[in-house]
Amino acid sequence: MKYLYETHLHTTQASACAISRGSEYIRAYKALGYTGIIVTDHFYNGNSCIRRNLPWREWVACFCKGYEDAKAEGDRLGLDVFFGWEETFDGDDYLVYGLDKDWLLEHPEAAYWTREEQYRIVKENGGCVVQAHPFRQQYYINVIRLSTGLVDAVEIANAGNEEQSYDALAKRYAERLGLPATAGSDIHDADQTRTAMMFGVYLDARMSSIQDYVQAVKQNRLELKMTPGRCDWRGKPVLRLPVDIMDRDGRGAGRDIWKFFKGTSGNSPEFPEVPLIRRKRGRSEIS
Ligand SMILES: [Zn+2]
Ligand SMILES: [Zn+2]
Repeated sequence: MKYLYETHLHTTQASACAISRGSEYIRAYKALGYTGIIVTDHFYNGNSCIRRNLPWREWVACFCKGYEDAKAEGDRLGLDVFFGWEETFDGDDYLVYGLDKDWLLEHPEAAYWTREEQYRIVKENGGCVVQAHPFRQQYYINVIRLSTGLVDAVEIANAGNEEQSYDALAKRYAERLGLPATAGSDIHDADQTRTAMMFGVYLDARMSSIQDYVQAVKQNRLELKMTPGRCDWRGKPVLRLPVDIMDRDGRGAGRDIWKFFKGTSGNSPEFPEVPLIRRKRGRSEIS
């Protein structure tokens, strides 16, 4: 038996761009056969609707309201609800899983992490970091920033991406790095559940806590749910934005994305070469 989970979901209680309250998703996800959802509202430097001048503990309390609303309704109707968040740096977004409200309450510095700190500290505390929709091209993004080293996985299928080729690029990118892949709906409105654009992941066992998801990501045990052909490579996609492929330390490395992809086979659905990241003259390069 497979267990289906939503990995990327926003609520109007905490995300400025969301339409639906946490509780409004529950009935629909259950009807679609999902076992659970992970609420991932926009965090402190993202599109949060929580006033940033609130004292930290109050900020966290407000931030968790969408999750708590979903959890209460989930408990009532029988859908498992878990907590995570999505943080934004310079147009690049990261899904963070494995840390909870109590942890956040004690760690106000989480609002000021660099990408490196985010990765290190989340991992030290038993969580994982996934780069969300890495090739999204939208009006609010100036540069596609790829974090090659400061993530555990890449979200290769994102139902919120307008163009299929963004996901094709993301799949190829994850394969180039040899990183696990995830899929999520990036849902902001419960009405989306009436469409085919509902993504997620299948697990072999029912999650008892968010730690089960963290382990499944790290061990690359996810089976992805997406629309057919969503990540297929259909020729060279258009990239309207410059791409900054950051090295393992989070610095721009000045590499060209097409050269970066070189060595993966263009039109084949499979890209057999999985490169190793090696250190060279103090900074890492992808071989
Ligand atoms: Zn949003
Ligand atoms: Zn999102």
